[in-house]
Amino acid sequence: MQSERILVVVVERSKTEQRAGQGLEIEEPALSVVKAMGILDKLNEKRTGEMGFKLVDAQGRSCGILEVGGISPTGALEIMRGDLTEILYKAADESANVTYRFETTIHSLRQTQYNVIVDLENRNDKTITTEEFDLVVGADGQRSRTRQLVMGSPEQLHCFKPVGAFVAYFSIPREDQDWPYSQLCHFPGRRIVWLRPVGKDSKVTSVYLIHLPDGDIPTVRRANAASDRLKQKEAFAELYSGLGWETSRVTEQMMRAENFYSDELVQVKLPKWSLDRVVLLGDAAWAPSPFTGEGNQLAIIGAWVLAQELSRNRGVVAFEMYERRLRAYVEGAQNIPLGGYAPYIFIPKTSWGIWLFRTLFRLVPLLIRLVSWTGLSKTLPAGDTSHPVFDLEIDGADTKKLR
Ligand SMILES: Cc1cc2nc3c(=O)[nH]c(=O)nc-3n(C[C@H](O)[C@H](O)[C@H](O)COP(=O)(O)OP(=O)(O)OC[C@H]3O[C@@H](n4cnc5c(N)ncnc54)[C@H](O)[C@@H]3O)c2cc1C
Repeated sequence: MQSERILVVVVERSKTEQRAGQGLEIEEPALSVVKAMGILDKLNEKRTGEMGFKLVDAQGRSCGILEVGGISPTGALEIMRGDLTEILYKAADESANVTYRFETTIHSLRQTQYNVIVDLENRNDKTITTEEFDLVVGADGQRSRTRQLVMGSPEQLHCFKPVGAFVAYFSIPREDQDWPYSQLCHFPGRRIVWLRPVGKDSKVTSVYLIHLPDGDIPTVRRANAASDRLKQKEAFAELYSGLGWETSRVTEQMMRAENFYSDELVQVKLPKWSLDRVVLLGDAAWAPSPFTGEGNQLAIIGAWVLAQELSRNRGVVAFEMYERRLRAYVEGAQNIPLGGYAPYIFIPKTSWGIWLFRTLFRLVPLLIRLVSWTGLSKTLPAGDTSHPVFDLEIDGADTKKLR
């Protein structure tokens, strides 16, 4: 272990820590990381408190509820992305060796044998300052500029793998019926509306619109390419207007939503996560898409492993070790369940498919109760077996058992 302190400069393009975004779940093995970081209590204080998941029909009638935990989409630690970012930011900002530069981006960089020379651009006054760093970590999301500068554009790298879905996330004013369960409704043409509570006393509710088109939807694609928020909203309004349940309220409020975010869902796949003194982390290296539910888990454990390896070896060897330890786990986590067909099964195309899904869903709570009444659950493997074992190498913990 080297005793020399690492000085870290965090470059963020937003004015403050990036608080945008809706809900995220933290589960093992990321849960063990936040425990080891000493921020679990703070995260628990900010839990949304969502009590479970309710499937509803177009008239708003319940087709069944899955209480929190188990196979429910509602995890034990659901938190808003902005709250997670704030807690992580404050924890890092307390360290004397970490400096944040907001409203700053990397304009350009060049690597030498000994360091990386980076031109940093202040987004406010457009001034450029040149600084030297030993290493650079690109944790700037799916459309990473660092990756583009060092390795090439997504087109050159062929690193974007679309998963066939378009999404829109935003908040709307909360109404009484939005609490305490999240509620999801299917509509023909593979469209879903999912409303999720943000907190018992919150004034807003999160909305997720997910659409799996049969072919292309050029209006949405054009709007996304131009980052034209109004056009994106109009395209989603056209797709969802007048379908039933809460769609009129949702589409009306969507047009006023300031935190509207929409994109085509893609995965990022790269043959290598680093080049010399620059390494990628999180969505920049391996965005798995929300269909896997692993985006923030992988970012958290990836950051842990990278920091651990950098504390053991200050050179680029740390990047090799980081990739060696994580790659198989990340590739496994990128697998979309049921051979990639899960989204098509969970978001049916026809009215008949939706009816069948709702009918089967009604049986799930009954089956769970049956299994526990008959004691059958004792014969099933304990714990969540959906995650392979990953060794976080946390001192003092029996990490071999962490899932
Ligand atoms: C605005 C936003 C909203 C999101 N909402 C959700 C959500 O509701 N639900 C969900 O499951 N996932 C959401 N995600 C994705 C989720 O946060 C990630 O999948 C996951 O947390 C992996 O995190 P990451 O740090 O690798 O990337 P990201 O979370 O994308 O973070 C990247 C960070 O880099 C900053 N950045 C980007 N480009 C530059 C640049 N050129 N220069 C400087 N800084 C830059 C961004 O502002 C951001 O702070 C959202 C991401 C963003 C950016």
